[in-house]
Parts: sequence; structure tokens; C-alpha cells
Amino acid sequence: MFSTKTIELKSVAELSLMRQAGGILAETLAVLAAAVRPGLATLELDRLAAAEFARRGAQPAFLGYRGFPASVCVSLNDEIIHGIPSAQRIIREGDLVSLDLGCLYRGFYSDSAVTVAVGVVSAEASRLIAVTRQALADGIAAMRPGGRLGDVSRAIQERVEAAGFSVVREFVGHGIGRALHEDPPVANFGQAQTGPRLVPGMVLAIEPMVNAGGWEARTQQDGWTSVTKDGSLSAHFEHTVAMTAQGPEVLTSRGRSAADRS
Ligand code: MG
Ligand code: MG
Repeated sequence: MFSTKTIELKSVAELSLMRQAGGILAETLAVLAAAVRPGLATLELDRLAAAEFARRGAQPAFLGYRGFPASVCVSLNDEIIHGIPSAQRIIREGDLVSLDLGCLYRGFYSDSAVTVAVGVVSAEASRLIAVTRQALADGIAAMRPGGRLGDVSRAIQERVEAAGFSVVREFVGHGIGRALHEDPPVANFGQAQTGPRLVPGMVLAIEPMVNAGGWEARTQQDGWTSVTKDGSLSAHFEHTVAMTAQGPEVLTSRGRSAADRS
């Protein structure tokens, strides 16, 4: 078990820097998402991420992290997370493309993910994307001052399971700040009114990973790519969110642009 003593609370000044990191990440992820199209090799998205970060003075957070070989994780269809960009992997019409991206800017990390439908996808795929996006929104809405972390986990799980989908157990969200992964772990399943109190200064990367079939995952031979065990589709949405006295503040929302940075 973790201790609440290990949760790093951010000062107002630190939150201001995290807001900047989040703005850069939101812009970059939007550029990547807009670039997804049939015929594109996933490696092109990695090149684009590196160039866009460099332009904004940010460093990729994932490149070299525990040996990960790229700046962005690109996971297609039954791949849950940690897909490695490749020149051989070509995006096709009907694919689900999950982009997971992180950056480091002026000492602070930001982490966000989005799943994009390529052209016309199945009704199940569309619903999976909508439910996963809504589960993230529900989790964020459950961040009430004085509430508990389990409220977030529960809200996500309820949304997903009510839709007949399942929550990945093996991977969870996390605290974030001067390190990419900090305490506390943020599970996408759990009990309301349990876990640490949500207090101002906490910053969480909330990231439901949702499978259309069963929750079980397995890792492919590359040692990274996690896929659904039953071959069903998977989607992933993530935001970096600060707890404030007024409620949650999404640091990686797309509306946050350069104008917010000072
Ligand atoms: Mg991420
Ligand atoms: Mg994350």
C-alpha cells in the first residue's frame, strides 16, 4: 500500500508550470490526431511528435523511458497501449488509433491520450470511443474537493460496465509532476469513498483503458505492446488534471492554447 505522505502536492507556481506543459501537450496531441489518415505509417506520427515538441521547447517524456524507443505510443485496434511506431505499420480505413503522448517542459511532465477513428468504423468501435471518452469525463467530474480517489475510479468503472465494456486492470493512471509517474496509482475500477482524500495541489493523470470484450491483456513479443487477450477492440483517453479548491482543472484540454501560457 502507498502512503498519502508520498503524494507530492504542487504549489501555485508549480501548477502554473504544469499548465504550460499541459498546453504544449494538448497542442501537440491535436496535431498528431489531425495527421492520422489511411496510408500513414505509424512511424510518421513519431517523427511529427518529435518535431512538434522541439518547436515548442519541450522534450518527449516517453523516449528512453524504461527503454521505450519512441516519443509517442501508437496502438491500433486490439492494442491497448504501448504500441511502438513503425515504418512497416500502415494505418488503414476503419482502424482505431490510440495516441498516448507525454512531454517534459521546464521541469514538469504532462501526459494525455486520445483514440481516433479512421474514416468509417464499426458501430461498436464508435460506441467504444464515446464511452471511453465519457468515462474519462465522469472520472474528472468525480474529483470533488474533500472527496476520495476511489470516487474517480468508481465513476469510470460504472460508466464502462454499464455500457457492457470492460476496464483494463493491468494498467492504471497515476500522479504526475516532476516525475512522469508519481503516487497515487489511479485505478479505473474501485470503490467510492475509499483511498486518499482529493486535496488542492494534487495532479493526476486519469486514463481509462477500455476493452470491448474482456479486460484481460497480454504483452506482445516486442516486450511493450499490450493487446486484448480476446482480440477485441480497445480505446484509451487520458488527461492530466489538477485538483484545485474550486474543483478539477484539466491541464491538457484542447481549448488550452498558447494564449494561456505566460
Ligand atoms: Mg499517457
Ligand atoms: Mg499516463
